[in-house]
Amino acid sequence: MADPFGFAPALIDRMRTARRVVVLTGAGVSAESGVPTFRDALTGLWATFDPRELATPSAFARNPKLVWDWYAQRRAQVATVSPNAGHRALAELEERVPHFLLVTQNVDGLHARAGSRALVELHGNIARVRCSRDDQIVEHWDERNDALPPRCPACGSFLRPDVVWFEEMLPADAIERAESAARDCDLMLVAGTSGEVYPAAALPHYARAAGARVVEINPNATPLSGLAHDTLRGASAIVLPALVRAAWPQEAT
Ligand code: NAD
Repeated sequence: MADPFGFAPALIDRMRTARRVVVLTGAGVSAESGVPTFRDALTGLWATFDPRELATPSAFARNPKLVWDWYAQRRAQVATVSPNAGHRALAELEERVPHFLLVTQNVDGLHARAGSRALVELHGNIARVRCSRDDQIVEHWDERNDALPPRCPACGSFLRPDVVWFEEMLPADAIERAESAARDCDLMLVAGTSGEVYPAAALPHYARAAGARVVEINPNATPLSGLAHDTLRGASAIVLPALVRAAWPQEAT
């Protein structure tokens, strides 16, 4: 069956004819891969940890070892999981449209591992580590189990994960690329994000103002639901592949 969801014909038509497609994803797209989201009340990472203690520059200044260890544990966990059918559907979509950009708030690297190439990782990537003084990426470090995080081999400063913490600015080139694509697209898919973290949450507003059809894929309502033309209530690992198959049924595998 090509379309068990009964997608609106106008949505399928836009999928097939859109020339500029932007996709915004959040933690929900990795839920089926086994990566916990931040805000889902029962399973979210923050249900057991206070983000203010772990994902801020001041937390790192206060307790660098705690923050380093927490990210080291998440880095190890993410290395054990795999992209799911939702990640793979977005990699396939990229192949089918003329101009495509995937903007993710996720730091787990699963989109790249699924094959997405036109990709902006707005909040960084947990697999990378950088010097906390000059932001240089460091490839190798000595993960000793002592009281402090590893040090930069060049200058001796603490190393930190290459992610954007609360209270930090996004990399200017990343947000500029994302905003410019959002202001110039004719279709935006918004999948697995609570729409509460700015500036990422502003992107669907830019797309809508530019005349794009905005489609939300999320089992739950969010602050972005009201501006979406289509709200597809379900898990992205189910809905995204179904949407791609509904738009290109003759090429189903
Ligand atoms: P969030 O935790 O705030 O919200 C997750 C959203 O996903 C919710 O709206 C929820 O209803 C939805 N969701 C849950 N299961 C889903 C599913 N199976 N399919 C589709 N949607 C589903 O996540 P966010 O909006 O990305 O929050 C932003 C911050 O969380 C970002 O800064 C991001 O870096 C960080 N984060 C990233 C990861 C990761 O890299 N995988 C994990 C946790 C948090």
